[in-house]
Amino acid sequence: MKLTFLGAGHEVTGSRTLLTAAGHNILIDYGMEQGADLYENPPLPLAAGEIDCVLLTHAHIDHSGMIPRLAKEGFRGPIYATEATTKLSEIMLLDSAHIQESEAQWRNRKAQRAGGEIIEPVYTVNDAQAALRLFRPCTYGPTYPILDGISISFQDAGHLLGSASITVTVTEDGSTETLLFSGDLGNVHRPLIRDPQMPVGADFVVIESTYGDRLHGPRADYAGQLTRVLQDTLDRGGNLVIPAFSVGRTQELLFLLREIKQNGRIHGHDGFPVYVDSPLSVEATNIYSGGMMEYYDDETLDLLSRGIDPIHFPGLRTSTTSQESMAINLDPEPKVILSASGMCEAGRIRHHLKHNLWRPQSTILFVGYQSEGTLGRKLLDGAKSVKLFGEEIQVNAKIEQMDGISGHADQSMLLNWMAAMTHKPKKVFVNHGSDAVTDTFAALLREKLQLDAEAPYNGSCFDLTAMQWQSLGFRTHMEKRKVSVRTNAVFQRLYQAGRRLLNVIEKNRGLANRELAKFADQVTALCDKWDR
Ligand SMILES: [Zn+2]
Repeated sequence: MKLTFLGAGHEVTGSRTLLTAAGHNILIDYGMEQGADLYENPPLPLAAGEIDCVLLTHAHIDHSGMIPRLAKEGFRGPIYATEATTKLSEIMLLDSAHIQESEAQWRNRKAQRAGGEIIEPVYTVNDAQAALRLFRPCTYGPTYPILDGISISFQDAGHLLGSASITVTVTEDGSTETLLFSGDLGNVHRPLIRDPQMPVGADFVVIESTYGDRLHGPRADYAGQLTRVLQDTLDRGGNLVIPAFSVGRTQELLFLLREIKQNGRIHGHDGFPVYVDSPLSVEATNIYSGGMMEYYDDETLDLLSRGIDPIHFPGLRTSTTSQESMAINLDPEPKVILSASGMCEAGRIRHHLKHNLWRPQSTILFVGYQSEGTLGRKLLDGAKSVKLFGEEIQVNAKIEQMDGISGHADQSMLLNWMAAMTHKPKKVFVNHGSDAVTDTFAALLREKLQLDAEAPYNGSCFDLTAMQWQSLGFRTHMEKRKVSVRTNAVFQRLYQAGRRLLNVIEKNRGLANRELAKFADQVTALCDKWDR
């Protein structure tokens, strides 16, 4: 029985773990890497057709995004996930496939003009549809026997609608062992969904550590912050533009806006309109309100029992077509516009920014993390003007940020989750955190909970029977240029040869000047040849 870490080792995205047990190959998540890529991800160590099944913790693309690729390469086994994850994966994987197709088309048009190579999309809508047919919806709680000697169960991870931690029970050679995969663990006190469920424990645990090095601080008053910004913007006669991820954050904001309207907290702007302008956000909102009783928290269930829809309210308007989207900016009435993407890198939000950034009456409100290098980050850092659709746009709008809103558990919540285990693990593997954070959190688990915890690198493999590492994975940072595993190994050889050359030069110190000059000429000629 062994675990191979194929992604999210010392980095935050691209979650993929392979469990080899009882003669089966089981993938836990098969996510796409997003943003900066720090460490190389090894390829699957076996053919896609040899994978027996996939267990999916939740629908976020960094956990699910490469599943269509697996289908494209011949995987035909079942994919086990909760019902909400299954529904959300349907819209998210199809959306991702559309993005892959249009990106390949765009690159190929460029390549054709420049005489370059034609590429295939990472996967197509057909591949995503083939993968979606493999989903087997499960519920939280029951134990599902899925393969000879293997059973699984799901518990609420409180991170996204349907998100789960998954326990795998393996019976091999007469003995039974359990493994718990945390998936992404949620923050507490969030709208709509429940807090993460505390685990009983397992023999082996793989835990995320996104915020393993920091605390969220005191509970933030989300509705209060939103009310203040909203009142101020509407009073100035402007629009409140909120860049938000389509799935999760958009619905949380709708919950808060419903509460604000219901409690009459905004004065002088009765029935102000709220637009959800993104086809994916609209679809996700429909899933969130489609009777997902199993996933709601008590507050939401209480609203429903009183006949109140938690995320719909008077003045809510949705727009899916681009004509509807353009019409929003022609209407002068002050309004709220929720649109994607959350970091302003793509999508309709860029049009709304173009129409509102120059207006001193409008406000742009950030409600999520903005990574380095994104348009969202530039605006938060106080850019005076930004380029959108080839036009330089002045930033005259107010730029605001709502603090405290996070989808991930912080350090103390992660520690509490681990401390709640009555069945203490023999070993804990910490992943899904940026480089040093995984090590910091593993050290904390050793120190505070006396657990044997380590943060594995991508490509490492641990033998759970022999209790030892079989390989330690890729521990060097990737070059800025993306290189394949094979070229990386050859490059390492060249790098070693370069270091040897320096040693040889050092050894020849004191040699006759004539010889030194000859050597210098040879090295210079070699550099001239390759320095391009
Ligand atoms: Zn997630």
